[in-house]
Amino acid sequence: MLWRHRPTLVGALVLAAATAQAQPDPETIIRGGDVFVEGGVRAADVRIVGAVITEVGSALEPRDATTRIVDADGLLVLPGGIDPHVHLGAARADDYDSGSRAALAGGITTISNFGGVREGETPAQALQRARPDIEAQSIADVIFHPIVSDPASASADTLEALAAAGQTTIKVFMVRPSFDQAVPGFMATLRAARDTGVLMMLHCEDAAIVQSTAEQFIADGRGSLAHFADARPVAAEVAATQRAVAMAEATGAPIYIVHLSSERALRVTEEAQARGVPVYVETRPIYLHLTRERFDGDTPGLYIGQPPLRTRDDLDALWDGIARGTIHVVATDHVAYTREEKLDPSQNVARHRAGMSNLQVMLPMLFSDGVRSGRISLDRFVEVTSTNPAKLFGLYPRKGVVAVGSDADLVLWDPDETRTIRDEDMFSGSGYSVHAGRVVTGWPTLTMRRGEIVYRDGEIRGEAGSGQLAPRSRWQDPGL
Ligand SMILES: [Zn+2]
Repeated sequence: MLWRHRPTLVGALVLAAATAQAQPDPETIIRGGDVFVEGGVRAADVRIVGAVITEVGSALEPRDATTRIVDADGLLVLPGGIDPHVHLGAARADDYDSGSRAALAGGITTISNFGGVREGETPAQALQRARPDIEAQSIADVIFHPIVSDPASASADTLEALAAAGQTTIKVFMVRPSFDQAVPGFMATLRAARDTGVLMMLHCEDAAIVQSTAEQFIADGRGSLAHFADARPVAAEVAATQRAVAMAEATGAPIYIVHLSSERALRVTEEAQARGVPVYVETRPIYLHLTRERFDGDTPGLYIGQPPLRTRDDLDALWDGIARGTIHVVATDHVAYTREEKLDPSQNVARHRAGMSNLQVMLPMLFSDGVRSGRISLDRFVEVTSTNPAKLFGLYPRKGVVAVGSDADLVLWDPDETRTIRDEDMFSGSGYSVHAGRVVTGWPTLTMRRGEIVYRDGEIRGEAGSGQLAPRSRWQDPGL
């Protein structure tokens, strides 16, 4: 096995016992699917031994009578989705267990979480604090991003310790007033990240513009959520995106911009990319499937996310960015609240619950509205949901690709299955989907995480605690 844990004394004894019984790792053959390998789709079988893909080829023979055969006739065999932008735990309706269930039912085999670096703590210590819950609860594999509010906590030494512990990202919120108070420190952190092979993820909205505009809206009697889009203008996203790009350009450090929402901000990143600045861009499903008219309805609270929903032109520009390859990742920014919490009438444009549940339907909706409709190719679909995040987050080629030696994180995908999204089918603790009622074509029928069938035909089969914190390598130019 390629990626076995470091053997402990107990582990060594267990291994010795297993060796004595000469029990081979279980074998599975996925038979007759259209397998997405690098370079395109080909009709092939996939052999999996233990947790790892060992062969992709024609008419593979089973080892013996114990080999499990999975029929994939008429199905795509895709690398499992990798979602680097998920929020779990805290006061939210999903923990690693329910978040995993939603993800696996939606074809995502690696999720993520963010955790704040507390005062007096280092990023590696924030990671250690998160580890017990990940190991106890998760079914999907997990990557973890410490949130840095005080740049002094993220120096070359402490980021070196984080990378040595196997996680290689930090998240910074430009939208928080604490960012503006410490910009010189964040420049030093960005250089430290560059030098230690750690990628900085940035929430790009300008704190001063967002805060003062919201306060003015409230003072003017326009503080209700119906005004959310105007109270949080595109200009705030553009200003912060320009600043983030400039910081990357001045330091040479790569940056990853989370949940980019507007055409104007996209142009800023595209111009930077054309100059050779290492700027990587993520968008999220709400900007690809919903527009700001939702705030005019009876339930604007359901649609609150930061940044807000934008216009139809923005939506079209983001789809084009995916198609052109200037948007590298589509990730959920999954935040699970119940419908009641999202509709809490005490909220306003300054104080509200941002984000929504999306793990279970992101891939099917992207496939349906993107691949089926001809807006993006199947290659792009796999790139932005699996291969690119694997490359950007230090998981490639162990994950993000169907290849010999890679983890058997696989999704059997029925490109023709048409289903309506229904609240009662959702595994998330939020208990509903803002997309309920949508008719979607293209769904996972089976999800495998490291060789184990963890989802099949509507049923979760994996156990809480079977997921792992996925070890990650340091930043390398992904060649995107
Ligand atoms: Zn987020």
